[in-house]
Amino acid sequence: MKSWLAKEQTLFSQHITAGNLPHAILISGVKGSGKEDLANWLIQVIQCKNVIQGAILQPCRQCKHCNLLLKKNYPDHSTIIPEKNLLGVDSVRKVSTFFEKTAQIGHIKTVLIPEADKMTVAAANALLKTLEEPTNNSIIVLLSDEHDTLLPTIISRCRLFEIRPPSGELLAQHINVNNKNHSAFINLSHLPELSSDELANEYLLFEQTFLNFLTHKEGVTAVIKMVANSPHGLRWLEKVVTNAMRGLCGWESSIQVENKSTLLNNNILWHIYNQIVATISQSKELSQANNQFMIEKLIIDIDNSLSNVNIGSKH
Ligand SMILES: [Zn+2]
Repeated sequence: MKSWLAKEQTLFSQHITAGNLPHAILISGVKGSGKEDLANWLIQVIQCKNVIQGAILQPCRQCKHCNLLLKKNYPDHSTIIPEKNLLGVDSVRKVSTFFEKTAQIGHIKTVLIPEADKMTVAAANALLKTLEEPTNNSIIVLLSDEHDTLLPTIISRCRLFEIRPPSGELLAQHINVNNKNHSAFINLSHLPELSSDELANEYLLFEQTFLNFLTHKEGVTAVIKMVANSPHGLRWLEKVVTNAMRGLCGWESSIQVENKSTLLNNNILWHIYNQIVATISQSKELSQANNQFMIEKLIIDIDNSLSNVNIGSKH
């Protein structure tokens, strides 16, 4: 369990002990913040028959309930996973059907929706009813990377718990990062690649490929493919450009762009940065197919921006 979750664990433990845990819980936090760990712990504690007492309650991991839950075979808990990247009405109706039946072996029923952001509007409206008319002894836990993207009516019917991991040096200490590529400017959005070596390597390759494109205008197709194929693609574009701008300004950065060998300067990077940020904000409202198109457009726009710089600099 990530150390910064202790605050939320303590709060949930107090609610459980006092018997006033909210019926609908929304846990919001960036990728890598540990909201899944927190939700799994919470559900285990709710369902365990022999909870270990303390400021932070712990499941015993030995009783029948704990065992079945760990084997994902506990009849009074259900996890609702998106199909084809979307949570539709049918998935959400399973929640109300599940809650209508009485608990089989425990006294309480729990539902976890790990990617609540993926709910369609129709699904969210279907869920509203369940949230408004809770059945007895039922707890629903929704998780969201960015709860702002959920319908306000959903948010208002849930108790919101926002996970805020530390940032900067403090975050580096928490996850034991002693990597020159990070530490100084480490922030929350970097959590996924900081907590996984595999993703960290993927990022480094991404950075090289994109920098090569920025400095030599090479590999436009490879860049499009790379951005479209990674769930982190757009965010990583932003990260590379930000680090390159820091490097050009002479600040501490993982990226040092050789000023002489390239026509890149901070004006053009700033322009590209704004193109990326505008695309990121649009992407939140688009379907998968449109996202692919938008990524292609962005990279071609960046390519054009780089061409204009080259032409503009020639005498
Ligand atoms: Zn137990």
